[in-house]
Amino acid sequence: MFLRELTMSIDHIKSAGPASIHALARAGITGVASLLCRYPRDWEDRSKTVLLRDFKLSPVCTAVRVLAHDWFGFGNTKTLKVYVEDESARAVLVCFNRSFMDKVLLVGNYYRLWGVFHYKFGEIQSSTFEVEALQKKGDDEPGIGASSGSADTGKPSTFGRILPIYPLNTGLSQGMLRKFIQQALVQYAGPVEDELPRDIMIRYGLFPKSKALKAIHFPESLEELEKAKQTLIYEELFYLEVLVGRRAMERKAVMGSRGRGKDPSEQAVLRLSPLQQRLLERLPFSLTPGQQEAVAEINRDIEWPYPMARLLQGDVGSGKTLVSFLAALQVVEQGGQAAIMAPTELLARQHAENAARLLEPLGIRPAFLTGNIRAAGRAALLKSLAAGEIDLAVGTHALFSRDVVYNNLRLVVVDEQHRFGVVQRQAIMAKGDHPDLLMMSATPIPRTLALTVFGDMDVSIIRDLPPDRKPVRTHLARESNEAKVYDFVRNELAAGRQAYFVYPLIEADTNRGLKDTESMAERLAGSIFPDYPVAMIHSRLDEEEKRKTMEHFRKGDIRILVATSVVEVGVDVPNATCMVIEHAERFGLSALHQLRGRVGRGTDQSYCFLVYSDALTDDGKTRLKVMLENADGFVIAEEDLKLRGPGHIAGTEQSGYFVLGIADPLRDASRLEQARFDAFAMLERDSSLSLPEHRCVAQVLNRAPPFGNIGL
Ligand code: ADP
Ligand code: MG
Repeated sequence: MFLRELTMSIDHIKSAGPASIHALARAGITGVASLLCRYPRDWEDRSKTVLLRDFKLSPVCTAVRVLAHDWFGFGNTKTLKVYVEDESARAVLVCFNRSFMDKVLLVGNYYRLWGVFHYKFGEIQSSTFEVEALQKKGDDEPGIGASSGSADTGKPSTFGRILPIYPLNTGLSQGMLRKFIQQALVQYAGPVEDELPRDIMIRYGLFPKSKALKAIHFPESLEELEKAKQTLIYEELFYLEVLVGRRAMERKAVMGSRGRGKDPSEQAVLRLSPLQQRLLERLPFSLTPGQQEAVAEINRDIEWPYPMARLLQGDVGSGKTLVSFLAALQVVEQGGQAAIMAPTELLARQHAENAARLLEPLGIRPAFLTGNIRAAGRAALLKSLAAGEIDLAVGTHALFSRDVVYNNLRLVVVDEQHRFGVVQRQAIMAKGDHPDLLMMSATPIPRTLALTVFGDMDVSIIRDLPPDRKPVRTHLARESNEAKVYDFVRNELAAGRQAYFVYPLIEADTNRGLKDTESMAERLAGSIFPDYPVAMIHSRLDEEEKRKTMEHFRKGDIRILVATSVVEVGVDVPNATCMVIEHAERFGLSALHQLRGRVGRGTDQSYCFLVYSDALTDDGKTRLKVMLENADGFVIAEEDLKLRGPGHIAGTEQSGYFVLGIADPLRDASRLEQARFDAFAMLERDSSLSLPEHRCVAQVLNRAPPFGNIGL
């Protein structure tokens, strides 16, 4: 019997009463399998003696004799102090709210003691401790070896063993979980079968599943615990990767109507289609090597008989938009339609304008579709889209509203993909018959994560920026030195360039003492840069106003754009050479990197000023330093990861989001790669290999992501 087949309810477990069953159910533990999968979050080693004199090294675990009682305080605050000693030292147990302890800890008797001790008021003290009565062994010094349980309660002893510490919910206690899990192990764990293939278990020396389960909860030694962890972690990762591998195979099994079967193992060579060629001839620059490689890979994918699923990563300003246009040309040339989806209307409009400018002259018929397009225009637009009179639809999520019908949607491009949820992505994919999918992102995804959530996708990375770019010069400035920054910007403006000013707030908030967009737009226009046109952009303005502002900024009619982080994604105005971010310490690393990426997009030298407040936290200081010392988005993302800890990547705000039952793909990166290798090798040998559902893995895959892109 497999673990997941232990679906019998908790009331089959001896001694489980209605109240505890209810509490367990509220914590999502309804059956024996889910109870056994409630893995400890930590373990406490109470198998070895730690004498009182070593209290600084770790919690104490020893046997003591009670020397005396003492009381201090009055009335409700009257508190018991118990003096104890072991062979090494004397100490005091302070029994806050536990005055009954005078009946438990009797003077002259011996007890096992576990506790966290500090040196306070000239004494070794603890108020966090547990005790258990100890029969005297003869009349000599008692030892604290394995115990069969304390005499007075009949509960399993918490001493003399490695104790599991469980994550708790209301109504649950450590004692309860320990008792039920121990009982469940006795009643059910014995016959639990292994889930992993034998040869793999032998290769890595993994425990049989039933032993791993016992040892993860109640290990007999730390070595055993380690091996149990290895076993369960590997098992989860292996299951995950088999699933990922199967997805990839299924995709490749979909033979669309485009069965021009090329050899998939063929090396991608750049062969441009006639329309692609014509577009490149019209551009004043040529593709960077990274763009060329990406286009070659995408062209090859589009030619293949099965749908493309490709993730295009490239730092801000690396020219991903152009790559997606080239992909669209290829598809349109073959009689299909393409859709490019962007997360904000601002960005979608920018893409649409570029598409009109670059692609219309080639005979491509683009259209712009957002939720804001008026009824009459919209009806006509949808009609042409359905009739196939539009080749390229550019827009926001409105691209997949229910009433939008495509004639022959063959390519879906998702820009800034991490901004979209998996449901949105699926909705647009459903508008075509297995269309090719190109997801683009400037937010680098660590390799380990790429293997997990994008595990069935191919990845192209543009590592270079266009050659004429000069690295943005970054300067830190104290808030009190802002005038110097303003002077610098004034010079740039005088030379014909443009600038962004970014603030963390939209409007004044007296409580927070921060500069805000509205007040600063006024100040910058009124007293600081009275000679230059200033405009403001933030999320509360209506789309038409934002559109006009962006248009004027792009044309250069507006010279200074005061903004919140709405300008963070995608905006491309090459003549803007200054990015001033005030209260920069308030922004996260990825936002700062994106914001800085708004300048340095043309051939002129650009500058980024990070203006920080005098009250700077250590964290804020570190982030600014990272920005000062690094330009590479991949490096910055890694620093971000280090600072914030795993589980906080690319918008995954929820800590531990990718943690499965016990495996954490980020922490267990090397094992993940091993498991992936093993799983794929196995699928290659036996493509019909299908594993039964794995509890913990299924759980994480079904969870709705807080951000886009569970690529499974
Ligand atoms: P991102 O990858 O951040 O989305 P964009 O697609 O917005 O970058 O491109 C940034 C700018 O670089 C645009 O103005 C674009 O026209 C320009 N660009 C793209 N490719 C090249 C190239 N090969 N050489 C010079 N400039 C380029
Ligand atoms: Mg972009």
